Amino acid sequence: MKAEIIAVGTELLLGQIVNTNAQFLSRECAALGIDMYYQTVVGDNGERLLGALKLAASRADLVICTGGLGPTQDDLTKDVLAGYIGRPLVLHEPSMTKISELFSSRGIPMVESNVRQALMPEGSEPLANTTGLAVGVAVTYEGTHFILLPGPPREMKPMFIDGAVPWLRSLMSGEVPLYSKMLKFAGIGESSLEHELIDLIDGQSDPTIAPYAKEGEVTIRLTTRAHTADEGERKLAATEAEIRRRVGAFLYAVEDVPLEAIIVRLLTERGWKLAAAESCTGGLLSDMLTAIPGSSAAYAGGVVCYTNAVKHQVLGVPLETLEGADAPGAVSAECAELLAQGVLRLTGSDAAVSITGVAGPASSEGKPVGLVYVGLARKGGSTQTFRLQLSGNRETIKLRAARQAFYRLWEMLKETEK
Ligand code: ATP
Repeated sequence: MKAEIIAVGTELLLGQIVNTNAQFLSRECAALGIDMYYQTVVGDNGERLLGALKLAASRADLVICTGGLGPTQDDLTKDVLAGYIGRPLVLHEPSMTKISELFSSRGIPMVESNVRQALMPEGSEPLANTTGLAVGVAVTYEGTHFILLPGPPREMKPMFIDGAVPWLRSLMSGEVPLYSKMLKFAGIGESSLEHELIDLIDGQSDPTIAPYAKEGEVTIRLTTRAHTADEGERKLAATEAEIRRRVGAFLYAVEDVPLEAIIVRLLTERGWKLAAAESCTGGLLSDMLTAIPGSSAAYAGGVVCYTNAVKHQVLGVPLETLEGADAPGAVSAECAELLAQGVLRLTGSDAAVSITGVAGPASSEGKPVGLVYVGLARKGGSTQTFRLQLSGNRETIKLRAARQAFYRLWEMLKETEK
């Protein structure tokens, strides 16, 4: 099924709001196996909206509109669709009852325009609005399916999931459903991964192989069509095995989870507590770890040791390491090592990670932006350090530094017994 989204709203065109509805709907459609071909944004203008609808209907099997279902005169989506498909707008009684009850319970008179929210083109399917007032619409006209959803995401999302998805599934019931699997990689860039798999990617047909990258993380989605999970697994097995043979060393999960969730799992399995000493990441690594439910079993805590004074006074890094013309400085392997050991001692943890570097935009200690050292210490074990040269702006460097630290931690944890 080929689909298209039309987001309606002058606010979108003026840049006052971001079109998050399109992102949500595209992602949901992809998961349903619906191919999204176009996304359009059009203002609250009947003529231009009609033009967008006609164009979409000429090339898509499914047209999803969001916005413009409200009570005011510039909320035109239903009127325009009704005109296009040549059907009058009729009252959806249950929605009307809900609207009038709401007004009477609040003791305010209902204005005539509120009735507009309960209208829908004759013969269309109503989509219930559980978090707002305007009823949604699902209707098929000349082979094209149309879905009209409200603009506010808190109304649009439940209406799509609870109302539109079952409708779409019933339309697609003849199609074999999609079966997908996510392979998540760390410690390898998107281009290196693609380079390793280029012949598989170029020659793909079934399953399809879709690589995509987010800061410091690469995902490959394998997709096939299958009636059951077992059948899906069987159809993906050979491709997955070949990918594992080539780049399995970087594969950290076969589910859509961040690396820090795997770190928490590995630490918990070992009964270990981790501590962190963070300079340039300013607590980001701790924040990412503590975003994982259950991290209290695996994470003891950390020190944001931003200044040399804190590095020295709290974590015991000697001043001679930090300051002076011949000192290695705060951004050095020596300092990373001492920070990791310092926080390990301070917290009595089983393992510790440290990060110190130059996030930019200006260089520091005469060292370039993006130079980062990660330290890893283990109770009763040796301390390792890693020198990284990261690129990006301040925010990106901080995120990449935290992700690289997770990657090194993951490697260390894999090598240790449960
Ligand atoms: P209302 O009854 O609130 O008028 P509506 O269905 O008429 O709802 P709009 O008036 O187009 O929708 O938009 C209402 C609000 O919904 C916008 O101010 C914005 O906050 C949000 N919104 C609309 N479209 C989008 C979109 N494409 N992405 C994200 N948010 C959106």
